[in-house]
Amino acid sequence: MRGPAEPSRRSGAAPRLSALAALALAACLTARPPPPVTEPAPAHAEPELAASIAETAAPEPGLDEAGTTAVAPEPGAVSTIGPGAAAGLPPPLPPPQLPPIAPPLAPPGASEHSDPLEVLWGHRLDFSSRGEPLVSIRLMEGQREIVFRPRGSARVVLRGGSTVEIPAGARLSVRARGTAPAAIVHHPLLADAAWAERERLEPVRRALEARGVLVLARTVGAVYGIGGRVVDNRRELLLGASDGTEDGARRAAEALREPSGARPALHAEVVAPPRGTLVLAAPGGAPLGEADAALWVEVAGDAGFVVEGVEHDRSPTARAREDRAYRGRLYVTLDARGALTAVHGVELEELLRGLVPSEMPSSSHVEALKAQAVTARSNVLAQIGTRHLTDPFMLCAEVHCQAYRGEGARTARTDEAVRATRGEALFRGADRVLVDAVYSAMCGGHGEDNDQVWGNAPSPSLRGRPDLPSGEGRWSRALRDDGTLRAFLSAAPDAWCRRPAAARKDRFRWERRFGPAELDAALASLAVGAVRRISVAARGVSGRARLLAVEGASGRTEVAGELRIRRLLGNLPSSMFVVDREGSATVLRGGGWGHGAGMCQWGAIGRAEGGQSYREILRAYFSGAEVARVY
Ligand SMILES: [Zn+2]
Ligand SMILES: [Zn+2]
Repeated sequence: MRGPAEPSRRSGAAPRLSALAALALAACLTARPPPPVTEPAPAHAEPELAASIAETAAPEPGLDEAGTTAVAPEPGAVSTIGPGAAAGLPPPLPPPQLPPIAPPLAPPGASEHSDPLEVLWGHRLDFSSRGEPLVSIRLMEGQREIVFRPRGSARVVLRGGSTVEIPAGARLSVRARGTAPAAIVHHPLLADAAWAERERLEPVRRALEARGVLVLARTVGAVYGIGGRVVDNRRELLLGASDGTEDGARRAAEALREPSGARPALHAEVVAPPRGTLVLAAPGGAPLGEADAALWVEVAGDAGFVVEGVEHDRSPTARAREDRAYRGRLYVTLDARGALTAVHGVELEELLRGLVPSEMPSSSHVEALKAQAVTARSNVLAQIGTRHLTDPFMLCAEVHCQAYRGEGARTARTDEAVRATRGEALFRGADRVLVDAVYSAMCGGHGEDNDQVWGNAPSPSLRGRPDLPSGEGRWSRALRDDGTLRAFLSAAPDAWCRRPAAARKDRFRWERRFGPAELDAALASLAVGAVRRISVAARGVSGRARLLAVEGASGRTEVAGELRIRRLLGNLPSSMFVVDREGSATVLRGGGWGHGAGMCQWGAIGRAEGGQSYREILRAYFSGAEVARVY
C-alpha cells in the first residue's frame, strides 16, 4: 500500500495520543475531502520497499531507483497523526493481548449467501468460490453509469432480485435511480489506538475529562477468522461530542484545539448505507433487471471482466480513462454520496501478484521475493477493516492504499514467489497473533523497534536488532548513545543490506550538509528564529533519532518522531544520523534508508544471496514469528 498524499502511517511522532493523532485516522476514514490538517501528517507505517502510505510529498526511498516505497502497515500505532491514518497500509496490528471475541469464521463459499452490502460496507473478509480471501478494491466511484463486459459467460446477481445469465463478451450497463446518500455522523477524533492497546487511551481520556470534555468511545475495524486463526484489526477511538453534522463536528474540533494549535481531525461514521435502485441494461438499453443498491458479477473460469472508462491518474486537471481488465468479482454499488461505484473483489493471491513486483525488484533472489510475498500478504491482512470506513470497499487502488496495477505489473519471478508461499502469513509463535509485517528498504546495519518509530505499544516481533552476520558481535549492544552510533556509522560494518551488488551504497551511509540559511528555511515552521544548534536528544535502539532539539535565536523546541524529523530536515533517508558542525555548516552523517522496523528489504536480498531461506530471513527480522499457512 503506498501512501498517497499524506497517508498516514503511523507517524513517527511519539506518543501521539493526542488530537493530532486523530488527524491521520480521520483523513482516511472520511476519504472525502479530508479535513484540514494542521500538521504534516506523519504517516503511519512506512515500509519502504513496498507501499507506503503517504508520502507523496516526501516519498520514501524504495528499494529500487524507481523509488518504490514499501508501505508498512501500521502497527497498531496508538495514533497517527497525519492525515490519512489509513494511508499506509498499512497498518499493522499489534497483537491483541486479550483473547479476542470469537469471530465469525467465514467458510469458503459463504459469499454465495452473503448480502453484498454487508460485505462491502462492513469491510468484511469474504471468500471466493475457490476459498481464497477476497479483498475489495475501488475501481471508480462517483459515476452516473458503469459499463462492463464479462470475458467469459457470467452470472449477474441482483440484490433483492434475480440472477441474470450473461454470455461472454456482452456489453452491459448499470445506472441508478431513486438514490439517497448514506447517513454519516461526524465527531472530532481525539485519540485512537489499536484495540489491544486501548488501555493506553485511559490516561488520555482522563486528561480530556479533567478539561471538561465529553468523550465518547467507539470501536471500529474488523475481526475475522482465517485458517483457524483470528485476526483483530479493531481500533478504539476517543471522540468528542458534537451534533453529528460535519459543520458541528468542525466547530467542536475547533473548540478542542490543543495548546500547540493542533486541531483534532474529524471522524466520520456511516450509520445508514446509501439507498437506490440499480438498473442493469443490455446494449440497446433494454432493462435486464433491477437490484436494491448492489449487484455483483461472477465470471466463469478465470476469464475476468473489462470495465470501460476506468479513471486513473486522477488529478484536479486530468481524468484519464481507459478500459481495464480484471480477474475476480465485480461489484457495482452506490458510494456514500449515492453515485455509482465499481468495486473489484480480487483474490488475495491475484492482488499479491500485482503488488510484489512494485515492492522489490523482480530480479532479486527468489528467497527474498518469497519473504517479500509473505510480508506483503500479512500486511494486506492487517489492513482489512482499518481504512476507507466510509466507503464500500477496503482499499483504493492508488498510492494511498496499494498502488495496484493489476495484471500489467506481473513478472514470472514474482508470480513464482507468490505461488510458492500461497496462503502463508506471519504469526507470532507464542499467541498466534498476526504479525504486523512492516518493512523498509535498508536498515543501515541495525533495525529499529516499532514503538520508537510509531509510538505504539512495543511488539515482541518488531524488536530492532543488528542486521549483521555472526562475527560482528561487537555491535550487539544498542546504538543509543552518540559515541556508539558514530563509531558504527564510520565502521560501516559488513551488514546484510550492504552486501548485495545492486544495493545503493550511498544509502547505506550518507551525508547531508546544511548551510545556515538552508537550515533556517527547513526549520522555519518551528518559529525559533535563526537556528543556532540542532542535536539529537533521544535515540532508539538503532540510534535513530526520536527527539530532535532545536535551539534558535528566539527560543528552543523539540521535535518528536522519526518521520517528522526526517521530513523537517529535507526528507532524510533515515533518522539514523549524527550531527556535526563544520564551519558554519551543519552536517548530518547517517546510515540506512527508511524507518528500519521489521524486515530490511536489502538485507533480505543479502541474506538470500548468502544462502538463507525465506523462512530463515523472516525469522531474523520478526523475532518469535513463524510462517503459517492460512488457506
Ligand atoms: Zn486508500
Ligand atoms: Zn539491513
